[in-house]
Amino acid sequence: MRHTSRSAVLALIFSLALAAAAAAQAPTVYRISFPAPEHHYAEVEVTFTSAPATLEARMSRSSPGRYALHEYAKNVFEVRAVDGKGKPLTITRPDPYQWNVTGHDGTVRITYKIFGNHVDGTYLAIDSTHAHMNIPATFMWARGFDMREVRVAFVQPPGSNWKVATQLFPTDDPWTFTAPNFQYFMDSPTEMSDFGVRSFKVTNPDGKEFTIISAVHHDGADSALDEYVAGTEKIVREQGAIFGEFPEFDGGTYTFLGDYVPWGGGDGMEHRNSTVVAAPVSFKTPGAARGALGTVSHEFFHAWNVERIRPKSLEPFNFEEANMSGEMWIAEGFTQYYGGLVMGRAGLRPAEQTMLSLANSALGVATHPARQFRSAVQMSQYAPFSDAARSVDETNASYSFISYYTYGSALALAIDLELRARSNGKLSLDDYIQLMWKVHGKPGGAQPGLVAKPYTQDDARDRLAEVSGDAAFARDFFTRFVEGREAPDYARLLGPAGIVVRKRSAGAPWTGLQMDRQNAATVGSLVAFGTPAFDAGLEKGDVIASIDGVAFTALAAALKDRKPGDKLAIEFRRPSGLVVKSTLTLGEDSALQAAPIESTGGTLTPEMKAFRESWLGSKVKK
Ligand SMILES: [Zn+2]
Repeated sequence: MRHTSRSAVLALIFSLALAAAAAAQAPTVYRISFPAPEHHYAEVEVTFTSAPATLEARMSRSSPGRYALHEYAKNVFEVRAVDGKGKPLTITRPDPYQWNVTGHDGTVRITYKIFGNHVDGTYLAIDSTHAHMNIPATFMWARGFDMREVRVAFVQPPGSNWKVATQLFPTDDPWTFTAPNFQYFMDSPTEMSDFGVRSFKVTNPDGKEFTIISAVHHDGADSALDEYVAGTEKIVREQGAIFGEFPEFDGGTYTFLGDYVPWGGGDGMEHRNSTVVAAPVSFKTPGAARGALGTVSHEFFHAWNVERIRPKSLEPFNFEEANMSGEMWIAEGFTQYYGGLVMGRAGLRPAEQTMLSLANSALGVATHPARQFRSAVQMSQYAPFSDAARSVDETNASYSFISYYTYGSALALAIDLELRARSNGKLSLDDYIQLMWKVHGKPGGAQPGLVAKPYTQDDARDRLAEVSGDAAFARDFFTRFVEGREAPDYARLLGPAGIVVRKRSAGAPWTGLQMDRQNAATVGSLVAFGTPAFDAGLEKGDVIASIDGVAFTALAAALKDRKPGDKLAIEFRRPSGLVVKSTLTLGEDSALQAAPIESTGGTLTPEMKAFRESWLGSKVKK
């Protein structure tokens, strides 16, 4: 939670005045070219005018939507600086991410080369088929230039058929684009390639029309792209129906920047008026285009949730540090929930599969050992260490961390089912997210790229109180399930939908051990707190010699004909060679499983049928 003191408010007013003055100043001008794309590098030139005595040029350390540090400065080489007359300037390096330039005449022109060969939503990828640019990964910027306009010229490689797809604003020159400020520029990934293009229009209740563009770099036939865009259109209209309107996309367009090449990566990355959606597939493969739609559904939902319904902890985004948010369980978790739900509502996934996958995912959270250690808020705060983060040393995240995507989706399911049950089907999560939109998203901001009314955790709780009409319920839910580590009672919540919750392996013995795939006697994964194996003192790397006096071959064989509660003598050897004798007391597998009531011999009542239809059926008015 952030506190705003009076002096902070005055500082803010002062900095806004400075920003207004800067806005009237000349834009920051970029030019990027690709002399030899096959060697995966670009040449960038950036000109800063009215520069301070010491110009502090930087590469970003972070990128919106992917919360680890990425250290884009590592790929920069051959940095030079000249002034307005072309005089070479001295560069000093105060830290690994910054280039200080002094002794100039008010103008500083920096040139550098940058390497990039990683196709996804976070990095830079250049090869003979495309330049796939995440802006923080590609362009150097300078401190204090936040409110300057940005102009970028993209240079087409000689002999290529590359075009430009981006949410940056077009100019009279087809190769030059603008952004009104630094935040918008950083948020505007750009694809240059010989991509295929399709578009369709959507209209808001007030008559405003927007163009939804798909610019897709792929290797398949036109029919594959048509199938992909037809699915995209169903998703887009279904999500519009949840909110009752589309955001006012800046410039009137929203663009899917698709990258489906077998040598690429799989990813989806949300932006304000566009998204990068990528998968390492060939559109020549039957079903590949359709298989890519799950990510489309997730990412488009972000056009509301995170891009405009934005946590205060992420606004404005800090490109100099990792950004931490306790609200990722809403930002990503609700998006995860709706990404899947909308696939069902749009008829792109069977209804039964949709409801069972949402339910089983939530049951996985309810029985996960990590809830002993971290709440949904704390899982959210772990994002900088889990989202594309790399560590040299081992972590215990395997049992102490649950993705806030999954955790948040589980909480979204609980709120959805709870609101439906409490209101006799009149209210649902759709009403909650719509209220979040009306209060926090729709008011917009002073300029594209800025959000005026970001929300805090308390705001999210208060909106739940308003939509449910029950402040005590909202307070209780947040205290126990969001800030606390309790799990909602999914068996009760899923009942009205005709979903039965049962033990996946009732009566079967359970140790909590995961054995190594190659060496069946070696413990293959860290042993989670609260498991029989943990209590017996077993840990990853230990080699089991015998159980109950019988030489050990495989876990399944050792547990055959055993039952929960059995106490077994166990002998194992530590990596150090130490031999340990202990007792393994078998438990019962707590894993839960959701099943449609009609598949368990029960009766699907008309009420349950209606509940499912209201939950999983299309909301688009035909
Ligand atoms: Zn997401």
